[in-house]
Amino acid sequence: MLKEIISRLKQGHRTIDFPSAGIKLSPRFMGLPEIKCDACGGNCAKCADICPTGAIEITAGKPVLDMGRCVFCGKCAALCPGVFKFGADYKLAASKRGDLLLTGEVVKRAETLDASMKKIFGRSLRLRVVSAGGCGACEADCNVLQTLVFDLGRFGVQFVASPRHADGILVTGTVTQNMKLALRKTYDAVPAPKIVVAAGACAISGGIYAGHPETAGIPEDIPVNLYIPGCPPHPLTILDGLLRLLGRIE
Ligand code: SF4
Repeated sequence: MLKEIISRLKQGHRTIDFPSAGIKLSPRFMGLPEIKCDACGGNCAKCADICPTGAIEITAGKPVLDMGRCVFCGKCAALCPGVFKFGADYKLAASKRGDLLLTGEVVKRAETLDASMKKIFGRSLRLRVVSAGGCGACEADCNVLQTLVFDLGRFGVQFVASPRHADGILVTGTVTQNMKLALRKTYDAVPAPKIVVAAGACAISGGIYAGHPETAGIPEDIPVNLYIPGCPPHPLTILDGLLRLLGRIE
């Protein structure tokens, strides 16, 4: 027992400060894409051809990168480093699907819920995670948020087992045909008003499975309040998005 106590004392305080300017991520982390449209001639479209998820389109001679489709493989940056670069900024979540389309202009981050919703959920949010055909990576990063390093509960946000006890759902995975009904039933079981979060490229756009007949996607009549890009999203990206939605970060 003494050994355990000494070990705990040596480990010290492991919970990170958040938000904090002092957060250092791995140099391998690929965060917010920075696009230099002016450096692009716009006439080869090789970046669009090489992208495995069709996340890049050439519009009016300039590349547009859809963060909701991007799996952060880095192929575009390796092909054309003068135009595409992935920075260390983990703040990627957005409130509108269209805000994930990057053109090299100002990035629109997630907005706070409207006043009435913020009053209800701003200090306490319970989410039921629906793993709707995910590979386990987005789910793992959600689980990590509940560890002592991130300590999601200190912000008043918790993942719960029953949709009846939840204020909303957090969807991961492409929503396969087999999970369509389960997603619908879970969504319907959450009392209104409710929140929907799409976490990861698969939930947002189908990711690398987009267009596959087994990929149903989140139905249009289930309105999404928060889109969290990534494959998978970093736990800090999820945390930042949730806290922005609740108005805890501006
Ligand atoms: S990093 Fe994203 S946009 Fe670039 S090639 Fe990979 S999936 Fe496509």
